[in-house]
Amino acid sequence: MSGPHPSSPGPAQGPVRECDVLIVGAGPAGIAAALAAAPSGARIVLLDDNPAPGGQIWRDGPAAHLPPAALQQREALARHANVHLRCGTRVVGLARMTHANPGLHALLLENAEGGWVQQARHIILCTGARELLLPFPGWTLPGVTGAGGLQALIKGGLPVAGQRIVVAGSGPLLLAAAHTARRGGAQVVAVMEQAPWSALARFGAGLVRWPGKAVQAASLLPAAYRADSHVVRAHGAGALQSVTLRQGGNDREVACDRLACGFGLLPNTELGQMLGGRLNERQGLAVDSAQHLLGEAGLDGLSGVLAAGECTGFGGSERSRAEGAIAGHIAVGNVAAARALHAERARWHAFADALHRHFALQPALRHLAEPDTLVCRCEDVRYADLKERTGWIDAKLHTRCGMGACQGRICGAATRHLMGWTPAPPRHLLAPARIATLAALPSSPE
Ligand SMILES: Cc1cc2nc3c(=O)[nH]c(=O)nc-3n(C[C@H](O)[C@H](O)[C@H](O)COP(=O)(O)OP(=O)(O)OC[C@H]3O[C@@H](n4cnc5c(N)ncnc54)[C@H](O)[C@@H]3O)c2cc1C
Repeated sequence: MSGPHPSSPGPAQGPVRECDVLIVGAGPAGIAAALAAAPSGARIVLLDDNPAPGGQIWRDGPAAHLPPAALQQREALARHANVHLRCGTRVVGLARMTHANPGLHALLLENAEGGWVQQARHIILCTGARELLLPFPGWTLPGVTGAGGLQALIKGGLPVAGQRIVVAGSGPLLLAAAHTARRGGAQVVAVMEQAPWSALARFGAGLVRWPGKAVQAASLLPAAYRADSHVVRAHGAGALQSVTLRQGGNDREVACDRLACGFGLLPNTELGQMLGGRLNERQGLAVDSAQHLLGEAGLDGLSGVLAAGECTGFGGSERSRAEGAIAGHIAVGNVAAARALHAERARWHAFADALHRHFALQPALRHLAEPDTLVCRCEDVRYADLKERTGWIDAKLHTRCGMGACQGRICGAATRHLMGWTPAPPRHLLAPARIATLAALPSSPE
């Protein structure tokens, strides 16, 4: 399923290609959008920077176990000749062209072979979410990863059999990561959830509204699950050897080979913000009831750009699928089919509300970093260096925080949490791009 479709729209090697609907992200939201829009016959391009479709939850790899639903969705996509799946392809920025068709949006795309401009009448952003990583002493040691990060590595073939693994942070992803590690033969010695038992008990009681989720949570809950607990420090000389964990005010040191630590999810909003969208109260892309992106200037400047799934706020794959399908129907003018899904979306929005309420981060997590703890690991910027700065731009100018390879995707989110700063999104280039890609543009990005 990966790689360009043989009958890709537009000139095979041309620098500018055109389609009706461009969907960025082939996770549950993007796939649902494509399947909803496909019966219209519209020319659809569905792209993802991963080598296979599925997004985070259905990430493929040599050691992945894809559920039947994921395989069915892939087969359904393959049945539509007008859906051109382009895996291993990413949006690297906006493409501003002097002779662009004013009715079309234009994004700059790149894959292993080269770069090109993709023009589209409608764009549906389904860019998902990433993990929130918070700095603590030792978090840059080899052996320490995000919780979803370790899960992705294991699915990609990382051997963990016999290794002792501590999973820590917050949210249901900890259970999924621990499950994947156990399946890979690891010994999960502790799963440390920062939320208190009282919040977890209320969350659990509320799951009667979503019985499937209750069954899933019960089946994944490990014996080593602890609430009101978090990691304090990772120890090791050159590689991780143990972690100090705090539970109910008491510290203990636990020997381990790996620490998988993620503090919930953070919507990938940068592309939507570059297109003019604004953020909602959950730091996701703000959308109206038809999933159109909302910007400071209202809908006028953003006509034809929609967003769906976890880039609008985290809330699980079911919510992503409902939102994606609504966006797909709207993009091809099938308003009635979109309306029919509003109740389903509302049901999963309520689940997302429960997740946000009960897994809210405890204030203690703001104080894990010590003066010498690196906050920006790309540019080696310490917490003490940032404490003296007044905001994100001041920190970038004086310390190079956020100016390395990840362009602030990790440390920007951390400083938002630790300092209350508001990192600005990139202006033209979303990700590092090859010079050849930029040089081949009909006219360079401004
Ligand atoms: C690391 C991680 C692991 C997770 N594992 C689980 C799990 O095991 N179980 C579970 O229930 N939930 C899991 N989740 C939660 C999960 O994200 C969702 O419930 C579900 O996958 C969301 O679907 P989505 O389509 O909205 O976004 P995603 O599934 O995140 O899909 C978005 C896709 O867009 C692609 N993308 C983003 N930007 C670009 C770009 N510029 N160019 C090209 N492609 C781009 C991404 O690579 C990704 O494939 C995980 C989340 C994360 C961050």
